Amino acid sequence: MRFSKYFIPTIKEMPTQTDFISQKLMLKSGMIKQVSSGLFVYLPTFMRVAEKVCGIIKREMEKADSVPAKFPLLIAREDLEATNRWQSFGKEMFTLFDRNKREYAISPTNEEYACFVAQNYIRSYKDLPFSIYQIQQKHRDEIRPRGGVMRAREFLMKDAYSFHADEDSLDEYYKKMEKAYRNIFTKCGLDFVVVNADSGAMGGSGSQEFMALAKDGEAEIGVCGCGFATNTELLSEHICPHCGKELEILRANEVGHIFKLGTRYTDALNLKYVDENNQEKLMIMGCYGIGIERVISSIIEQHNDERGIAFPSNMAPFKANIIVINTKDEAQVKLAEEIYETLQDAGVETLLDDRNERFGVKLADSELIGIPYNIIVGKRASEGVVEFQKRRGDKLEALAGEILQKIQ
Ligand code: ATP
Ligand code: MG
Repeated sequence: MRFSKYFIPTIKEMPTQTDFISQKLMLKSGMIKQVSSGLFVYLPTFMRVAEKVCGIIKREMEKADSVPAKFPLLIAREDLEATNRWQSFGKEMFTLFDRNKREYAISPTNEEYACFVAQNYIRSYKDLPFSIYQIQQKHRDEIRPRGGVMRAREFLMKDAYSFHADEDSLDEYYKKMEKAYRNIFTKCGLDFVVVNADSGAMGGSGSQEFMALAKDGEAEIGVCGCGFATNTELLSEHICPHCGKELEILRANEVGHIFKLGTRYTDALNLKYVDENNQEKLMIMGCYGIGIERVISSIIEQHNDERGIAFPSNMAPFKANIIVINTKDEAQVKLAEEIYETLQDAGVETLLDDRNERFGVKLADSELIGIPYNIIVGKRASEGVVEFQKRRGDKLEALAGEILQKIQ
């Protein structure tokens, strides 16, 4: 992309409407724009990062044999009443009426319709386990939307639902998902802790939260050298119940949550399969969520410095930025265009900063946005020489022809 044709509305002053560094930097670097309480416009660089997170998630879901789908945003009231969720989600749901006065909720999650799919197509034990997921907007009327996109009223969630013939199959699949979640968050560059959690409004027998460490994190967690970790809400004192040592207390944000739901939903909806002996049995269920905006916020919480966002290379909206020092110098423009074409042809996501701005302004924007590599095209362009700089690293002279190799 050419910067002049793209849309990265960076702002000079550090935003003051939030205390969270990730939200300040997302606003400052032009990734998001708040338009109402808990409602945001996601701008182009945010979309690029989101695509990367979703790409990692999709690959891991495929490895875990979960199939992609898309459920409706609207869920009819009677379908949520059947599982008692109209009541249990209550005021957290946005609701509306259609022209025939039929009432709906805008989906806070989608267990019911996942069950409907299983009910229609999965009849026999031979079809189990079955796992289906979507990456789709969720709406929740949070009491206090805070932390910007960390706790918004509309957000993007990966929600997966699995169906099983027995508890053993659920246990096995749940472990597979735990592994997938560990891979996803590791690949996103997050430092995280997995804690045992309360199953909350979802119901069920067991659940774990994936907590991304952050100094202003919403939750407090206790971690022990023996590997034990928990949300401190579940403790009466800060002592490890396994080895008796004092817990290290950290702050973190929940980026993912996996649940063993058991028969909580399948019982309510009478979701059955036929076993080896031709007996009808209730399916056993699990569900697995990841908040995309929370993952992105958490990456920024952990990867920033005084100049801006220091994205891990695989998460950055662009990998390289070609900065033309003097856009009126033909030799500079020509060489920059050549490098731009070479990198694009090689599949390197490249920004070409062709704006008629001072070099200092362009470099500051690049460091704020979090682009890992800068290629600075200046005075020696006519000799084919440019400067190559890792974000915040030393400037090194390089021949234009060597750039691709240095980035890869
Ligand atoms: P929390 O306790 O933070 O409200 P939750 O337990 O309600 O989260 P789940 O229902 O498990 O969340 O949803 C799965 C994931 O969706 C969460 O792990 C989180 O990453 C994300 N998420 C939940 N609520 C929000 C929100 N209001 N804004 C952004 N992401 C959210
Ligand atoms: Mg919640």
